[in-house]
Amino acid sequence: MKTHHIKKLLFIASFISLWPVVTIHANDTMTVGDLVVIRNSVVAGNVDIPDAGDGVSTSIPVTVFNGAKDGPVMALIAGIHGAEYSPILAMQQVVTKLDTTTMSGAVIVVHNANLPAFQGRTIYFGPDDLKNLNRSFPGEAEGSVTERIAHVLTEQVIEQSDYLMDIHSGDANERLGPSYTAYYAEAGSPELREKSRRMTVAFGLDTVVLFGGDLSSPDSQIYTSAQAVALGVPAMDVESGELGVVSADYIDPITDGVISVMRDLDMIPGEATPTNLPVFIKERARVYSDYDGVWHLSPRIEAGQYVHEGTILGTITDYHGNRLGKVTAPDSGILLIVFGTPPVNQGDNIAVIGLVNP
Ligand SMILES: [Zn+2]
Repeated sequence: MKTHHIKKLLFIASFISLWPVVTIHANDTMTVGDLVVIRNSVVAGNVDIPDAGDGVSTSIPVTVFNGAKDGPVMALIAGIHGAEYSPILAMQQVVTKLDTTTMSGAVIVVHNANLPAFQGRTIYFGPDDLKNLNRSFPGEAEGSVTERIAHVLTEQVIEQSDYLMDIHSGDANERLGPSYTAYYAEAGSPELREKSRRMTVAFGLDTVVLFGGDLSSPDSQIYTSAQAVALGVPAMDVESGELGVVSADYIDPITDGVISVMRDLDMIPGEATPTNLPVFIKERARVYSDYDGVWHLSPRIEAGQYVHEGTILGTITDYHGNRLGKVTAPDSGILLIVFGTPPVNQGDNIAVIGLVNP
């Protein structure tokens, strides 16, 4: 039978329920940038971010799995911050564990969202435009390179996903503990919030941070996962790792968590391994530096420990060593993030404390 005859029959079949079920689904073929991924196949490639007149071009390395069976599209984004290595390394593990023949739905793995920052070994900001990718959504098609990356991630990844994980660690200057997941607990429909909550519990980490904000306008949502939620995509954040350290203690929980969430969503075979004892952190207190200078973390302080209001976290000196001031915990709770390296600038967020029972 000639191809156009088959197409005609399929077209007619779509109106006649007696015909054997032949359904054309949205993810029969997936397109991410220039990458075309047919059903039951994997494509590893790059989504190009061309020079927009600023002399900067880059690309986003991705692997796209299009499963044999129908199901949701999961986006996994690592490397929004280029010096947060455990997510980037976990994605290299994840791609070895996925198999399209038993997969329902599709997975877009973004290995390294911010290649300029990774290659330039910069914290927070891209080296070319000094912009923070996780403050640059939804991005701009003709903006600076960080804004162009955000734009492409919004159009090519977030907008065609049904679920999204934005995976971070403490940046190369930050101690972070314990590893935690997070989601927007007040934004979107009750159904969307429940889907996001379920992802965080299924991921398996015991600490879950509840982000605030109703995120009603996508144009003003500058964070990756906030942009997703504003566009109606259930989303979660992960934080696992610190200080640029490469350790299985930080990498493996990301890999295991991703697999567990996909199992929970029936995208891949196997039993999910959710947390049984989630500790929900509803509010966070932040400490900002009053000075430019040198940060001295107290040797008695570890990320992840419980600190009381007034606990001395460290001191700041000028560059000669003269003491400018001490930094104390503004509230009692779990010290989630604290600076672990000496550079400190006025306005820097030195510490984040999670309030367990605000
Ligand atoms: Zn980050």
